Amino acid sequence: MAACMAPTTAGTPAGAQTAPPGSPTARTANDRRRPVVIAHRGASGHLPEHTLAAIALAHAMGADYLEQDVVLTRDGHPIVLHDIHLDRVTNVRQVFPDRHRSDGRYYAADFTLDQVRRLRVHERVQGDGGQPVFPERFPAQPALFSIPTLVEEIQMIQSLNRTTGREAGIYVEIKNPAWHRQQGHDLTAIILATLDKFGYTRRQDLCYVQCFDAQELRRVRSELHSDLKLILLIGQDDRDAPPERRSWSSEGLRQVATYADGVGPDLQLLVESAEGPAVRPSPLVAEAQRLGLEVHPYTFRADALPNFANSYDELLQIYLGELGVDGLFTDFPDRTVRYLQSLAAPAR
Ligand code: CA
Repeated sequence: MAACMAPTTAGTPAGAQTAPPGSPTARTANDRRRPVVIAHRGASGHLPEHTLAAIALAHAMGADYLEQDVVLTRDGHPIVLHDIHLDRVTNVRQVFPDRHRSDGRYYAADFTLDQVRRLRVHERVQGDGGQPVFPERFPAQPALFSIPTLVEEIQMIQSLNRTTGREAGIYVEIKNPAWHRQQGHDLTAIILATLDKFGYTRRQDLCYVQCFDAQELRRVRSELHSDLKLILLIGQDDRDAPPERRSWSSEGLRQVATYADGVGPDLQLLVESAEGPAVRPSPLVAEAQRLGLEVHPYTFRADALPNFANSYDELLQIYLGELGVDGLFTDFPDRTVRYLQSLAAPAR
């Protein structure tokens, strides 16, 4: 299996940053690179999330990185699934009606990989009544797809890199590591071993590792000695956290810069005021970039715009143009790549 390649002409991933952990360096204007397009759960605006079909489409659309959310099966196989539950995106209720826990949910950690392979994947539905979360997207039925393992997904991406000649990277999220530990699994160690097997080991490789759990990311760097690029995800609830626990405060970001390469904040955290038309930026982007951290906000959806943007292109203009983020997670890599290409096109 080919090792992860160095960046090629297909965009210039921001991952080429050279600052070692613990020694953030100031970023200059010359350091700015084209923002990276991260396909959020694949091209999930067009196909059911985290299916190999969604990955193939995102690759063809020109995304720089393809995202994997990773959880474990009962027998310890890493699979690509957003939730620790199976019931919002598969037919698990029909295939294994009695296998839910007392809360009525079906947990991936209770099923072997062989059992997971018997499930069909459909577009995400809500818990109450099974209505689609995004009604205009791919129909919830028929369920045409299956859940890939992390190995299969990496094989798919590396194979597409080979056949297209365009190197797309991977962007792996360690999902709920503390919860997995309670189930008796070291999810992080299993993910890192898998990445290592496929050639993702160094900072310059086209691979990011992301997690909401700061403690776990510190562990990845210090205890597991990984050199991969690390991104701390920051949720909206961080805004309400006590000051000493806020990751996006000046002190919080300074701490993050001692072990991570960037932050992945909810896009709402980057604006002080969510009332249009004038958007007041929060200090997060400037503070983070001053510390040498990349900023990759989530999630950019053409069919779920925040109230301060009238169109998807306007949303991109705010974040890429005015706020100057280094990349973004999007369900619509096609529209995002097209937007960036329009900026790069010479004026006529
Ligand atoms: Ca994710």
